[in-house]
Amino acid sequence: MSHTPDSAVRTYIAEHRETFLDGLREWLRIPSVSAQPDHAADVLRSADWLAAKLTETGFPVAEVWPTPGAPAVYAEWPSDDPEAPTVLVYGHHDVQPAAREDGWDSDPFEPVVRENRLYARGAADDKGQVLFHTLGVRAHLAATGRMAPAVHLKLLIEGEEESGSPHFRALVQERAGRLAADAVIVSDTGMWAADTPTVCTGMRGLAECEIRFQGPDQDIHSGSFGGAVPNPATAAARLVAALHDEHARVAIPGFYDGVVELTDRERDLFAELPFDERSWLRTARSYAAVGEAGHTTLERIWARPTAEVNGIGGGYQGPGSKTIIPSEALLKLSFRLVAGQDPEHIEKAVRDWAAGQIPPGIRYEIVFSGATRPCLTPLDHPALQSVTRAMSRAFEQPVRYTREGGSGPAADLQEVLGAPVLFLGISIPSDGWHAPNEKVELDLLFKGVETAAYLWGDLAEHWSHAP
Ligand SMILES: [Zn+2]
Repeated sequence: MSHTPDSAVRTYIAEHRETFLDGLREWLRIPSVSAQPDHAADVLRSADWLAAKLTETGFPVAEVWPTPGAPAVYAEWPSDDPEAPTVLVYGHHDVQPAAREDGWDSDPFEPVVRENRLYARGAADDKGQVLFHTLGVRAHLAATGRMAPAVHLKLLIEGEEESGSPHFRALVQERAGRLAADAVIVSDTGMWAADTPTVCTGMRGLAECEIRFQGPDQDIHSGSFGGAVPNPATAAARLVAALHDEHARVAIPGFYDGVVELTDRERDLFAELPFDERSWLRTARSYAAVGEAGHTTLERIWARPTAEVNGIGGGYQGPGSKTIIPSEALLKLSFRLVAGQDPEHIEKAVRDWAAGQIPPGIRYEIVFSGATRPCLTPLDHPALQSVTRAMSRAFEQPVRYTREGGSGPAADLQEVLGAPVLFLGISIPSDGWHAPNEKVELDLLFKGVETAAYLWGDLAEHWSHAP
């Protein structure tokens, strides 16, 4: 097996580069924000756009699959070799909210190229990384002279990933027969750095909740009643203060139950990466690296679970003062989970913990949403070796391993389809996922195209799915 790049693949990609970018720009102009109900029609338009693009690419089957929320897109292209393995590519076509006034230098939904970077909401997360598979499969066919891919290729592109994938698991369960695959390739992750290509081997899971606190039935005078009735804002603040212990460990009883600890080998692999904490802090736009005692920064973000306050509010926040005991307070919390943790167990642990912390006279309601399971790829899986080889051919250098601190519904695919999950992503930390000025590096985007062009042949050649 040669690791040298294929000039036919590179030539094909170079010839189709501008057409591909025109298509991506067109798709990025559709503000498919799944979290905002007034963009529901845009999410639908985004699904229709992608299904048409996949048909144009050559997929004989390309369908929009409705869900009770936003639609997914499904496509398949059978191999001409009936014995070939079946691969399911996962990505998403919805995006995080974005507005110019959040700090964008240009309209988030009017893509612009500056210094070989394409700026737009969704450029890296995840439209760019979904779309590179279209040019990738065309380059694979052009370079090999095949009429159909070397593997049975399926795509499932979700429409609610940025909203916590509320209907994804049910969709996968309902359509498990058509989605059946020997491996899942997730293209919704990143790599270490532009000059350090890496393959991600796991993702954290996510559990999210909102806690509404109610004290008096309405705002009341803090002179007439203060000191004698409970304050919901104080209750919210006390709960936040109780979330972590002095070692920055999550203090919710049962929270760490089942956590798969890092092996020494994994800790060594992490430690070998060229990690510069100061430059990482600049990317994080933060001023100190703090977290769970006994773990490095990389271990904290990749392999340790967290509890974060995403929002906190209550009472008067206008100019001047208003001497009240507020009627309401609100917390939004989220928990990143690692392999071995189960979102349902975390929900129960949070509810039990909160019940013991909130004082009498404060009524409260906890609403959980958007549970996503964690997942971890076996390091020795042959398909992982194919991804590694394809990527090292495209980048012309060795590929290392990382994990991803973010969350995706990949573990549902792993669980429902019984297929291993592999990650192929070319985004880098400075791409600004979920932040203003999200971008994708065009050179890396086309390395992604090239990796996808090599992958299907390598998988078919090196991996038999036969039991
Ligand atoms: Zn994403």
